[in-house]
Amino acid sequence: MPKVIPVSEQQSGKVVIVGAGMAGVQTAVALREQGFGGTVTLIGAESHQPYDRPPLSKAVLLGKAEGSAFDIDFEALGVTLELGREVTGLRPGDRELDTAQGPVPYDVLVVATGAEPVRLPGTEAVPGVHLLRTLDDAERLRPVLAEQHDVVVVGAGWIGAEFATAAREAGCRVTVVEAAERPLAGALPAEVAAPMAAWYADAGAQLRTRARVERVEPGAVVLDDGTRLPAGAVVVGIGARPATRWLAGSGVELGAHREVVADERLRTSVPGVYAVGDCSSFPSARYGQRLMVHHWDNALQGPRTVAANIIGETPAVYDPVPYFWSEQFGRFVQYVGHHESADTAVWRGDPAGAAWSVCWLRDGALVAVLAVGKPRDLAQGRKLIEAGTPLNADQLADPARPLKSAVA
Ligand SMILES: Cc1cc2nc3c(=O)[nH]c(=O)nc-3n(C[C@H](O)[C@H](O)[C@H](O)COP(=O)(O)OP(=O)(O)OC[C@H]3O[C@@H](n4cnc5c(N)ncnc54)[C@H](O)[C@@H]3O)c2cc1C
Repeated sequence: MPKVIPVSEQQSGKVVIVGAGMAGVQTAVALREQGFGGTVTLIGAESHQPYDRPPLSKAVLLGKAEGSAFDIDFEALGVTLELGREVTGLRPGDRELDTAQGPVPYDVLVVATGAEPVRLPGTEAVPGVHLLRTLDDAERLRPVLAEQHDVVVVGAGWIGAEFATAAREAGCRVTVVEAAERPLAGALPAEVAAPMAAWYADAGAQLRTRARVERVEPGAVVLDDGTRLPAGAVVVGIGARPATRWLAGSGVELGAHREVVADERLRTSVPGVYAVGDCSSFPSARYGQRLMVHHWDNALQGPRTVAANIIGETPAVYDPVPYFWSEQFGRFVQYVGHHESADTAVWRGDPAGAAWSVCWLRDGALVAVLAVGKPRDLAQGRKLIEAGTPLNADQLADPARPLKSAVA
């Protein structure tokens, strides 16, 4: 049976965080900010100094920024960094992790191993096929852009759109191949995603929807209708899965997407083990369902709850209003909330224009906002969602009125 460590002992114990991305780093920072006095060790498989991922598909890709390392003095924080060290297993009975360099004991463990991109089957050994998740991936892609190759992007999701944007800016010829009938099919309702299809053409990229990749050959992508697309490089952006293979057999419960199933305090099914960020899901009382959020803000907010629960005697519950942004085709796209349970969608502005937003309501209260070039709608909407304030849908539909003035 795993030992149960009392809270007072935890405050001076050894916290080990696996995964040195945003969620892992922020957990270490939050532990210190909240006064944790014990040992904090952050273990990361990548050998780079911990870095932020959003710039990888933007400034770093275009060579406008050299890197995106977090500006954090880990030594001053009293956080031991163990980089280039992959954790291969967890033995909760012994409170130990396995690594090629030997076991690592812990009192409290935080799983923050993020997600890894889904590969296109059969392309693993084909030269010129890229993913975009890590700094190494971005560095391999920089010369592709600089040399202005013909690029085929597989997947018109967030990463595909941002990569296509950068590749067009660099002067590449870009074709985006998407199996669904529109971009962002898994993320946004049809009527909202449909206007975004035009952004590709505006930027000079060709978007081919309902198009499936049959195979990738060196220098070409072959579609299932026989079309051959010349491709000096292929970038695959078809989603990401929680990086949790190392937890197999540990007793930590995994969900349908292989994510760690956390509770409302971000505890896993194993005592003394927490999970946060892209690798996990949590129950949202606010939205009445379990959420798995693969966005930056979740990897910023969740760690504060984890740290509070490791340290504190008062339980901290995680029930955020999710938020993310994307920069694509010269537009700043932001989304806050969760629209699935909505009964009404109200448009503010013309989706063919440069700035518009969509507000989703449930029983008259705002539950989600998508804002394109309208950061004020987003900021005001976020507060109204958090407060659950009822809104007047007719007033809301007038884009000339501030969103917050539509309070019923
Ligand atoms: C290119 C790109 C652009 C993005 N842009 C945006 C954006 O504009 N807006 C937005 O909201 N979100 C964006 N995101 C999403 C956001 O970056 C992620 O949600 C966030 O990075 C999640 O942080 P994380 O720490 O949970 O996981 P990760 O950042 O994936 O970090 C996990 C770390 O754990 C390490 N690890 C994995 N397994 C092990 C192991 N067994 N042992 C040791 N270490 C391990 C990994 O190497 C990795 O460094 C973007 C993501 C990418 C890839």
